[in-house]
Amino acid sequence: MAFGLGAIQGWLSEARTAFNAAADRLDELDAAIGDGDHGSNMARGLEAAATMDYATCNTPPAAIKQIGMTLLGTIGGAAGTLYGTFFLTLAAQWPSQLNTPRLAALFRAARDAVQSRGRAEVGDKTMVDPLDAAVKAMEAADPEAPLAESLESAVLAAREARDATRDMVAKRGRAALLGERTVGHIDPGAESMTMVLELCLRHLSD
Ligand code: ADP
Ligand code: MG
Ligand code: MG
Repeated sequence: MAFGLGAIQGWLSEARTAFNAAADRLDELDAAIGDGDHGSNMARGLEAAATMDYATCNTPPAAIKQIGMTLLGTIGGAAGTLYGTFFLTLAAQWPSQLNTPRLAALFRAARDAVQSRGRAEVGDKTMVDPLDAAVKAMEAADPEAPLAESLESAVLAAREARDATRDMVAKRGRAALLGERTVGHIDPGAESMTMVLELCLRHLSD
């Protein structure tokens, strides 16, 4: 498939707009079960990443690595380390050619890295939940399926997993301090990870 620096710039520019628009909503989700800064954190990170100069990045993994480093340094909080890890792993594992099985393996590596960094299991009410659901959907997709189709099923699975965090008790991060009181609220990181995956669907198709 054709996937180059242009697609990454497109992804970044849309991510900047999307996270800017979602900042208040994500802050409100985080205010219910955390400290109310997740939307501002993400908007600040994507603003920094989208306004950087990528002139010296000649390949997609080089650009994705720079995105990861920038997010690591600007989002802050728990999510900054985890999204930094997520993008740095995508950069490190980026395949020379993308197809459905390679995409599944790529996102599995990113999920594993986020889990090994944050120690969250599936069902702990974190960003890992939609990411894990997306990986499993990609792995279940027909290996011959066009990327757009497997990504579509990944996004549908991620949305369901995000919605399912509403009924869960948070076991990781700041929200874990509230325990049972987190039931009834969608996890803000599950919402932002679903947005990240939705943006990939729009820019990573064949
Ligand atoms: P902070 O909690 O430091 O203010 P943010 O509000 O930006 O950071 O991010 C909170 C989100 O990060 C949570 O909604 C959750 O999805 C995710 N998160 C926090 N800790 C972990 C962890 N250990 N593993 C996976 N995700 C986590
Ligand atoms: Mg927070
Ligand atoms: Mg915070």
